[in-house]
Formats: sequence, structure tokens, C-alpha cells
Amino acid sequence: MANIGYIQVVRHCNHFCGFCSNPTTPYEHTFESMQVLVDDFVERGYFGVILTGGEPTLHTELPRITRYARDRGLHVRLITNGTRLADREFAKQLADAGLMLAHVSIYSVRPEVEEQLRGVAGTLEKAFQALDNAHEFGIELNVNCVINRLNADHLDENVRYLLRHHPQVRHFVWNNLDPSMGRAEVNQAQFTPRLRDFEVSLHRALTLLQRTGRTFRVEKVPLCYMTDFAWASTETRKIVKGEERIVHFLDQKQTVRQTDWEHIYAPSCEHCSLRTICGGLFDRGNGYDPAELSPVFVSRDAIVEQILHDGDDSSYAARSLEQWREDFERRCAETLAGKHERRPTGDLPDERFQPDHVISVGQITEQSRRRYEHKRAAESRRAERLGVQMERPEPEKPERGST
Ligand code: SF4
Repeated sequence: MANIGYIQVVRHCNHFCGFCSNPTTPYEHTFESMQVLVDDFVERGYFGVILTGGEPTLHTELPRITRYARDRGLHVRLITNGTRLADREFAKQLADAGLMLAHVSIYSVRPEVEEQLRGVAGTLEKAFQALDNAHEFGIELNVNCVINRLNADHLDENVRYLLRHHPQVRHFVWNNLDPSMGRAEVNQAQFTPRLRDFEVSLHRALTLLQRTGRTFRVEKVPLCYMTDFAWASTETRKIVKGEERIVHFLDQKQTVRQTDWEHIYAPSCEHCSLRTICGGLFDRGNGYDPAELSPVFVSRDAIVEQILHDGDDSSYAARSLEQWREDFERRCAETLAGKHERRPTGDLPDERFQPDHVISVGQITEQSRRRYEHKRAAESRRAERLGVQMERPEPEKPERGST
């Protein structure tokens, strides 16, 4: 198994997306507080770490923590909006520090749509420059895209443009919008798509990527909206391979260990041939409608075999369907037995990050609280100009281990 953990390095950003699910908080990391989290991933035998945010390139210690994680043997990745990576010297600095892969997020190649989504002008050109810079310095490239109401109809146009102008991008990650947190939660009506809004353009986009030899993953999309590409569903792959994911949030949630990849299902899902390997409908935030789900009757085992024999992914040891069935049934029985330990969100509590075993994820200081208040005041003015709602403020006192 190739588990990859996430560390939110900062929670502020130089863009202002109306659907940001991880906006500014008063928490901050030092190099030392990030070091503890990197060490924890190493001790758990994780394959890699993804440094994310907010916008992680705004942390002055990013090159140093990149170097540290790389020296400790982790595959080091970054999720970035690309604005700082458009600076050639900075891209070189990260490459020299050991950054191996950058996920540059681009939501729309239509400049006016990207500007509306980002809340800032001129970001698209910078993201394109970031792709070129990262490639020049040998950093592998992914493009990340959050599927939302404004880009839902032209995901394939994004792919066509990027393949033509930035052929060095080999892998794409599609994330359907998470409407449960931050500004995404309070601006659902503006940004949360219906599944049918993107079904056709996503299918065209994935077909194009497959034809041109690119790889891709899709998260928070039920399999009935991507049956031809079910093997590329992040949830399905994690269910099949039994993988987990730890996210160190730089907010009140602190650490979340995700081992359960199932969301909710409609009554009709019980008739669906993919029910046991499908993540269902992303239900947090109540942004999506179970009435949009409809059962499919394709071969589950054929999809499992595609995952087991994926030449680009050797992370799962069992290679035959029979071996997999045995492993899968054992894991299902264990999951059922352990259901009572889960939090209401479906995530498992993590022993190292409970109140009695204090390893804090970032800290709040007087200075960081003042910075947060200043930033929030400035962002509130910007939100008003852009016609979006501000997220609910971060609660004053952290309740550790309360997710
Ligand atoms: S009908 Fe339900 S189980 Fe089947 S693919 Fe859709 S969401 Fe998944």
C-alpha cells in the first residue's frame, strides 16, 4: 500500500476562491511543528507527504521542510495555485530542496471564468508559467481541478488546451467540490454543481486523457457518473487496496485519519453491481442529491482487475482476483467489527493525536491571532466586492480530538 499523508503548511492564501474549503485560520506552523508531523509519517511507513494549504508556498520554511521530508525518505509533493512557482528562482529553490511533484491547480482555461473562481486577476498566466518552470527544473507535474458549477460544462476544453500548450503534464486529478467546509459551505448555491452538470464534459475529458496516454484520478464522483473510468476513482482504488489517508489540518479539526471511503447511498444502490467498491455520494455538507444516483450493472471484478493490474501503480501486493477477494472480505469483516470506534464523520480517532497524547498541529499565538483578524477583515471587504459570503470564523478555543 502506498499511503500518502497531507500537511497543511499554512492556511492563508494569495487567491480568494469563493469555494475554498480550507480558508485562513489563526493556526500557524513553525519548521519544528511540521518536522514532528513528517517524522510521524515516516514512523507509520508512509510512502509520501503532500504539502498543502491554504497556499503552502507562502510559508517561508517550505524549502527547508521539503528538504527535511525528502532526507527522511518521503516522496515530497506540493499542491499549489502556481502564483509563486511562476517565479523561476523559487521553482529552482524547491527543486533543489527535493520537491518531486507539483500539483498545480487550474480550474478553467477560460481567463474570465478562472478570474471569477479565484477572486484575483491574472492568475491563469502565472499557473501556466508555473507548469513551465517546474518542468524546466525536473519537477513532475500534475494538474488539479476542483469541479464546480462554473467549469462543469468545459472540463474537456481545459484538457484540450493543456495538452496542446503544456504537453509535459502527464497526470490530472479531478476533485468534485467539497461543500462541507469553509467558504464552499456558505456559498453552495453559487459553486456546487449537480452531478449531471459535469457528466458529459468529464467523460469527454477522461476519454481524451486516456487516448493521449495520460493518467488521472477522480474524487467525490459516484461511479454511476464515471462507469467507463471507474478504475480511476480515488475512493474505489482506496477501497480495493485498503489504503488510509491522514490529513493534518491547520485548524480546530487537527488530525483526521480516513480509513472509510464510503459516503452515502440511495436505496437503489443496493441493486447496483458496483455497490461494494463505490464510495457513493459525498454527503458532508448535504450539497448533493441522492436522487441523482442510479444503479449500474457492469462487472465489478473487471474493474478490480484493472486496478490490480495497473502498470502505473504497483502499490498493492495482491495481484490475483482470488487473493484480492480474500483480503477484501477480511477487511470488510474488520471494518464492520470496528464501526463503533468511528466518529460520526466515519473517520477513525488517531491515538497519537488525542487530547491525552498531545502532539499539536500548529499553534495559535497572540501574533498569529492578530494576523488572522487583520486578514479576515481584508477578506471580508473582498468578499463583499465579489458577491460571495465569508466562511464562519474559526472557533476561538480548539477542542482537540473533537472531529
Ligand atoms: S448507484 Fe450507488 S453504488 Fe451504484 S455507482 Fe451509483 S452511487 Fe455507486
